[in-house]
Amino acid sequence: MKHTPSLRHIILVLLLVVTFAQPAACHTPVWDERLVPPGRVRRRYNPRRNRERWARRWARRQRRHPPMSRAARRRRRTRVLGQILNANPSPVLIEQCKQQSSAVAVSARATMEKPSPIAETPGEPDPLADLRQARGWIDHMDERELWEMLIRVCWPHGAQCPGCGERDPQYVKLVDADYRGGLGRWGCQVCAEAGDPGEGGTFTSLTGTILDGMRIDVRTLWLIVELFADGKASVETADEARVNRHTTDRLFRLLRAAIYQTRSLEPMVLAAEDVGEMDEVYITAGLKGRAGGLQLEREPRRRGLKRRGRGTWDSDRLPVFGLLCRGGQVRLFVLRNVQTETIRPIVYQMVERGARVYTDGYCIYHFLSRDGYQHKVVNHGAGEYALDLDGDGKCEVHCNTMECTWSWLRQMIRTYRGVSKVYLPLYIVQFEFLFNRRHKNRWNRTLDVLQAAFQVNATSAADLLARVQSAQFAEVCPVAG
Ligand SMILES: [Zn+2]
Repeated sequence: MKHTPSLRHIILVLLLVVTFAQPAACHTPVWDERLVPPGRVRRRYNPRRNRERWARRWARRQRRHPPMSRAARRRRRTRVLGQILNANPSPVLIEQCKQQSSAVAVSARATMEKPSPIAETPGEPDPLADLRQARGWIDHMDERELWEMLIRVCWPHGAQCPGCGERDPQYVKLVDADYRGGLGRWGCQVCAEAGDPGEGGTFTSLTGTILDGMRIDVRTLWLIVELFADGKASVETADEARVNRHTTDRLFRLLRAAIYQTRSLEPMVLAAEDVGEMDEVYITAGLKGRAGGLQLEREPRRRGLKRRGRGTWDSDRLPVFGLLCRGGQVRLFVLRNVQTETIRPIVYQMVERGARVYTDGYCIYHFLSRDGYQHKVVNHGAGEYALDLDGDGKCEVHCNTMECTWSWLRQMIRTYRGVSKVYLPLYIVQFEFLFNRRHKNRWNRTLDVLQAAFQVNATSAADLLARVQSAQFAEVCPVAG
């Protein structure tokens, strides 16, 4: 029997072919033409067409943002500067601030909640934005009044010629009242006729003082002096007053020099009923910066902490000798060493013979009872800190007032993050000055600092600073050893 394919077989084979041929046809890539990127055509560089394109763009920008006239540009600059300097905030800005604050008030009333001054929503502009540009109350003071106050501190008895000392208003006259916005210039007829006019025969209240030649405005000056009287460091003050660090640094040094030169060395413990306390403390201070003739390119400085024994100038642990009258003032002296011969002249100068003097048990104070002082000792080594020797139930023999002063001194020195031992005497007198006025408020301390600043002349303060900087220590502290 011959095998012939039946119709069923043919249909089956055809079905199989159709079924299995279909996927093979699907594997041939069929791309959507729209998805195929066109071949990269490298356009030839056509400078003329590029120029035209840029010209079209420029014309379009000019149409959208028409150029400002010179006057409009000036108005915009004035407006922006005014906002920055808080001189004249624009009416639009003021209106915005009012709307903002009223909106805040309405919402606060609606929710019966007080809006927190600290919480700021990120999208909302600060309604006090113009006020925050200022440095505090000082920027809202009248400049002329500030100059007037400064002139009063400088000349409490009226204008005085720095050349001849003439004070008579008949000869010393105000020449220019508006100079520097209220500082004013005076003229002296006596000096002018003598042919020694100097600066055209005129002067200001700052002429010849340590503030002479400072071009900072009067608000900044008051602010800096106030922060100095508050015991702030110069870098901190520069941030507050928004001036250069070196400006405050220079002014602070001059103020310290002025305080050093005007300090009182009058006897302190006078009567027999007065009580004096003496003690010494050691301040770690090496050479740093460029004071003392140091160069910038130098070996790393050696700290004095590892030296043994009592601190001295040479071991970078400077002794500071302190002397106070109870209920009175404190006097501090930086010493080269702690020996009887070093402190003896200081004690003779400051304390009258026969006064009561309380110290700790250190041997350098043994000369006191031999030299006619009523000397009592608390022996800290034996655990004595306050003794009742007269039996009235009150422990009067102690030197804890002086120890308390050291606590404040260390606190103040810490503000400056390490001082040069060359400048330490100036920092010590600054502390003494401010500590003796600790019961005054900051404003009165500021006035005292300014009074001291106006008492010395610029050349003597500069001389002192030059001697300090070259570390002529014995000259700086004449009573020290
Ligand atoms: Zn004169």
